[in-house]
Amino acid sequence: MILDAMKNVRDVMVVLYLMLIWKTVEGFKGYGWKASTGNEGAAYCLSWRLAVEANNVRAWRTVPTQCLRHVETYMVGGQYERDLELIMGQVSSFADEIVLSDDGLDAWIFDIDDTCISNLEYYKRKRYGCDPYDPMGFRAWALVAGCPAIPPVLGMFNKLVYQGFKVFLLTGRDEDTLGYSTIYNLHSQGFVGYERVILRRAENKGQCASDYKSGVRKKLVEEGYRLWGNVGDQWSDLQGDFSGNRTFKLPNPMYFVP
Ligand SMILES: [Mg+2]
Repeated sequence: MILDAMKNVRDVMVVLYLMLIWKTVEGFKGYGWKASTGNEGAAYCLSWRLAVEANNVRAWRTVPTQCLRHVETYMVGGQYERDLELIMGQVSSFADEIVLSDDGLDAWIFDIDDTCISNLEYYKRKRYGCDPYDPMGFRAWALVAGCPAIPPVLGMFNKLVYQGFKVFLLTGRDEDTLGYSTIYNLHSQGFVGYERVILRRAENKGQCASDYKSGVRKKLVEEGYRLWGNVGDQWSDLQGDFSGNRTFKLPNPMYFVP
């Protein structure tokens, strides 16, 4: 009888002990032991976008379908513009620190697509990048020359030109097919006063963006230009040789250019 009672007490103690361990483990989860926000979809897309912008996720072909609304909200809901304005503030502060020489060789590089002018309207029709890249569709869009300026970047471009920097607009767009429409588009949107627009020529066909743009920058440096800043929405605009004293990565969660 006494032995049975002792066994029951022992069983109860074991159960209480196991419950205590379980509560402790649950408590750790509450302190971030396991990523859980109660809104797993939104949390995943936030992580995905950060990893894309930090270049931790590479060579991705499409936006994950479950992130369509996340990317849409980011691009059209105001945060994209706020991010651009903050980055242009950094460009501006850096430019203000530079004492220009009087030789006319202080230079700045801007990418064109989704840096100077926006393809957002086109990508809306491509489900903000959830649809795969469509070279013919993009070419048809670019030929229309209707890309609007990205206002904070246009403002920064004008400031740099006014300060005396030689601004080069460097794009992977094909010169033969898109040269005229690209330059027309830039002019119609207020991008005037630059030093040169540089498009991809026949000899650069087949080169990845990073190699092509590195080669162009090398030639500019050989001409004597000092590349102070380099602004682009793709890491391939900013990586490689002669990338500039400072690079500025603009957000683009809609597509990746290798
Ligand atoms: Mg671009």
